[in-house]
Amino acid sequence: MPAQRTTTGEPPDLSSLSLALTEYAPFPMATVEGATHIVHYVNPAFCRLMDKPNEELLGKPLSQLLPEKDECVALLDQVFQTGKPARHTGEASSKPHPIFWSYTMWPMLAGQRLVGVMIQVTETAEVHGKTVAMNEALILGSLRQHELTQAAETSNVQLQNEIAERKQTEEALRQAQALLADRATQLELLVAERTARLQETVGELEAFSYSIAHDMRAPLRAMTAFATLVQTEYARHMDETGKEYLGRIASAAQRLDRLITDILTYSSATRRELHLHPVDLEKLVREAIHNQPEFQPPRAEILIQTPLPRVIAHEPSLMQCVDNLFSNAVKFVLPGVLPRVTVRSEVVGQDVRLWFEDNGIGISLANQERIFALFGRINPVAEFEGTGIGLTIVRKAIERMGGKAGVESESGKGSRFWIQLKKSEDV
Ligand code: ADP
Repeated sequence: MPAQRTTTGEPPDLSSLSLALTEYAPFPMATVEGATHIVHYVNPAFCRLMDKPNEELLGKPLSQLLPEKDECVALLDQVFQTGKPARHTGEASSKPHPIFWSYTMWPMLAGQRLVGVMIQVTETAEVHGKTVAMNEALILGSLRQHELTQAAETSNVQLQNEIAERKQTEEALRQAQALLADRATQLELLVAERTARLQETVGELEAFSYSIAHDMRAPLRAMTAFATLVQTEYARHMDETGKEYLGRIASAAQRLDRLITDILTYSSATRRELHLHPVDLEKLVREAIHNQPEFQPPRAEILIQTPLPRVIAHEPSLMQCVDNLFSNAVKFVLPGVLPRVTVRSEVVGQDVRLWFEDNGIGISLANQERIFALFGRINPVAEFEGTGIGLTIVRKAIERMGGKAGVESESGKGSRFWIQLKKSEDV
């Protein structure tokens, strides 16, 4: 359907508009087609002029219907040939009184093609200037209307094409999105599958290393025991160098035993099932101090800033962490300095942060992350004994309990280690 936008937003139906114009026009109007000028359409005014119903007019050559037919046919031929509007006014000779017949004709075009002629007939007692002017206005209006119809048709086709193009683009986009979602799902499945396989492998490796570490302890214990036996029972048969070598064997075996013990502890800290419950921090910290003579005077002073709130934790794991942090706090001090440690708590949102502030050697900013990695040590063993596993256990265990661990320090100015866990609402 041809479409032309109006101020109401509805496209007017131009062909029906054109029909309405001619149907209600006060002047008789008709259209003819073909070389013999067959009447194709007549309006009611034309029927009244001819005094006949339109069934008797349609399909007949125009020349049969009109008076002054010669002039009319000549004019029609002219319009068909030139494709230009024309008019003619002539006096009817047959009437007793002078009567004027006025014909106005204009071509009906479909694109560049002439498909017929519209004729408007007027019978007047005198030729009136206004009649001619009105005819011309009608001609122009009709021609303009035809142009508008064509323009509307063209833009309608363009619009349809644009809509079709947009639909195609939308469909392509929808398909691409569906494909993308599909790929994402496949990828997620693949990642989940690989992760599960990886976890399985890691689990197997952990179990393997645990059993190796475990099995290594028995021969190591035997070595240590025999070295001690030789030292006590056969010392008198050895010179000083022999005794020193034997001493080195014993301490190396002890160190290896310590390493294996720590690895086993780490392994169980990462593997054991953790059931979390409310834990009384204050009680746990006091117990940790009570269990180790090196955390107590005269070897060290540990001050607890009470009260310490309850936290959600796995008690044995938390005890392990507190124990490791106290061990480090009292160990990493300069010779001759009495280790002093303060334990205090801070509420951070829904969590509790437990601080361990010491007067030790401190840690430079560059090393503060490294020390939480497995075997991440800074100081030589000769200076400070250790395996570099303690803090790894702390961070791993705290993370497995849903918390975090960190440090603030400066070289030579003591360290402030902290662990953070969910606060228990139980009082
Ligand atoms: P270890 O104590 O067996 O060496 P850790 O994992 O517990 O292993 O600590 C790693 C390193 O972090 C230590 O070797 C030490 O250099 C540093 N460190 C840990 N705690 C402290 C502390 N309180 N003060 C200074 N340095 C520390």
